[in-house]
Amino acid sequence: MNMLKPESYAAGRWIAPGETATTIIGPVSGEPIAVAGGAALDMQEMLDHARTKGGPALRAMTFHERAKMLKALATYLDTRKEELYALNPATGATRRDGAIDIDGGIGTMFVFASKGRREMPDGHVYIDGEVEQLSRKGTFLGQHIAVPLQGVAVHINAFNFPVWGMLEKLAPTLLAGVPAIVKPATQTSYLTEACFRMMIESGLLPEGAAQLIVGRTGDLLDRLGAQDVVSFTGSADTATMLRSNPNLVKNSTRFLAEQDSLNAAILGPDADPDSPEFALFIKEATSEITAKAGQKCTAMRRLIVPESQLEAVAKALSDKLGNIVLGDPSSKETRMGALASLDQKADVLEKLAQLAPETRVICGGPDALSDNLANGAFLPPTLLACDDPDAATVVHSVEAFGPVSTLLPYRDLAHAAELANRGGGSLVSSLFTNEPQVARDVTLSSAAWHGRIYINGRASADESTGHGSPLPHMVHGGPGRAGGGEELGGVRGVLHYMQRTAIQGSPDMISAITGTWIKGAAETTGPQHPFQRTFDEIVIGETLHTDPRTVTLDDIEHFAHFTGDTFYAHMDEEAAKANPFFPGRVAHGYLLLSFAAGLFVQPDPGPVLANTGLNGLSFQKPVSPGDSIKVRLTCKRKTKRTDAYGEVAWNVTLTNQDGDQVAEYELLTMVSYER
Ligand code: NDP
Repeated sequence: MNMLKPESYAAGRWIAPGETATTIIGPVSGEPIAVAGGAALDMQEMLDHARTKGGPALRAMTFHERAKMLKALATYLDTRKEELYALNPATGATRRDGAIDIDGGIGTMFVFASKGRREMPDGHVYIDGEVEQLSRKGTFLGQHIAVPLQGVAVHINAFNFPVWGMLEKLAPTLLAGVPAIVKPATQTSYLTEACFRMMIESGLLPEGAAQLIVGRTGDLLDRLGAQDVVSFTGSADTATMLRSNPNLVKNSTRFLAEQDSLNAAILGPDADPDSPEFALFIKEATSEITAKAGQKCTAMRRLIVPESQLEAVAKALSDKLGNIVLGDPSSKETRMGALASLDQKADVLEKLAQLAPETRVICGGPDALSDNLANGAFLPPTLLACDDPDAATVVHSVEAFGPVSTLLPYRDLAHAAELANRGGGSLVSSLFTNEPQVARDVTLSSAAWHGRIYINGRASADESTGHGSPLPHMVHGGPGRAGGGEELGGVRGVLHYMQRTAIQGSPDMISAITGTWIKGAAETTGPQHPFQRTFDEIVIGETLHTDPRTVTLDDIEHFAHFTGDTFYAHMDEEAAKANPFFPGRVAHGYLLLSFAAGLFVQPDPGPVLANTGLNGLSFQKPVSPGDSIKVRLTCKRKTKRTDAYGEVAWNVTLTNQDGDQVAEYELLTMVSYER
């Protein structure tokens, strides 16, 4: 392989490694494979470029436009991913490991693209929660919104996931509308650079939306301000050092940290060696110890098992681990590759030495390594056991970031949860059980200490995603030792790059800001029935008031017999009267909905294509025979869905002859862009 020379991408220019570049030693051969970093980058120029070019360009796009850009980017990367797989073995990773990193990263971007389209507005303001009624008459209201920060997101990533680590941070950042400066870990920066270069070559990103620093960040953090964010993954020591930068502290610059974590996995008390849960535990623990040679922030470090099962688990696991083929990650037979660097191996060996006084070796360890792998950063899967986990401290505080896990026996469920919590805060804790009550007990006693609780058993085994897989839909992060930060979690992850602001004002002011009609804001009348207007012609606030219709007893009886809904409140005067909700027989709620549609619909073929749903339906007042109802239909929100049509959401209210509101809902229709 030619010597790799990953370049930085600063202010629109590619910059080659400089004279003081670091030589990267390959973890498989122990030979130099790349030189990286050392270029004199102008950090202020990079920040200015992001703030003056990337930020404004991204903020000019709507959430949906940015989501579409992410989808196009992910699609583009997917077509070129084999180029990334070709580089992947150089990091020590097998193709399976690479799938977590490469396909996992691209998949994460696809999920954010889809969530952006489905869960965020086709506009510039994200609406957070409902309108708050701050006044009696409704002329002064409150609404929380979120808007993109006007600065730069600095992403500092770890060595273990050179592609996923970049994409899982970039997707929510770009969806939020914030430009990013990505700084990968130097050891595997060539793989990150290859993926980053593809994104630039795709031509899909606005100028300044993403830049890359290969090597060190110089005085970058000293130049950040109140609108910037640092999002860090790596060791607790580096996180502590960086987050206490006086400039970041002074400016309250957001600092999100995801750092090392002593994740636990608990085998439930109900899981005996013949149970599916026991087999699942062994299968997942084997995978957690060996995938990425254990260099996963979510890997199971402590295996907490019933005292009575310790030896059975030790035997079953060591049998599995003994079959793992260790070696060249590019070979098809290999199940586990190398650690990412010789330094990383040295670090793991040192951590094993620290763990030694509290543990015994069940299998693996450096002595079990075959001679032909001695030059590379290889270490066999290593299982330890700690017989006195109450007295132990090192097993709960020292993370060997490699293929190493420790078995800990527990007496009862409370003890198991207590041991899991002694990690001081983790990214994920898992439980293998078939008993819902066990799941509830463990969750209540330990959820506060873990960012994610993964429960697996026979019912979910076939479709479960694995203890160690952070999913873009679910929060990834954890309290305390895990860094106290959060990533992913769908839109929650996007909001880390946005400012939440409480807006207070009249309905018209709030409606103008959010682009959504709210009650009390101005209503307008269109030149035609709204169902005859195209998506673009319909205006937010456009309203139709219908004529009234009287509801008769015949209507109620006809509806009851026609539908089969002969519930006593509609059919039996005496029984209905005895019910505290009703004055006597009343109209069915569904009859009112049907009458409402009959009142507001314009029947001719036109731009309205379909009624796709109804949200937030409530019946507020009963309607008795002889009452009359009329309908108000107001355009509340419009969202482009495809190239042919968009969704129009209507606020619909039904009122009676006294002007009292009897029902309200949001009606969703698909409306064509053409007549
Ligand atoms: P580090 O904390 O040293 O590095 C993480 C990132 O921070 C890298 O990009 C690194 O860059 C960067 N960095 C380090 N110092 C500075 C600085 N002064 N200014 C700006 N950036 C800086 O972690 P390692 O990658 O060396 O891993 C060490 C340990 O961290 C592992 O053994 C493991 O215990 C834990 N870890 C946890 C992970 C997790 O996901 N929770 C992931 C990886 C590691 P550079 O590479 O150039 O030094």
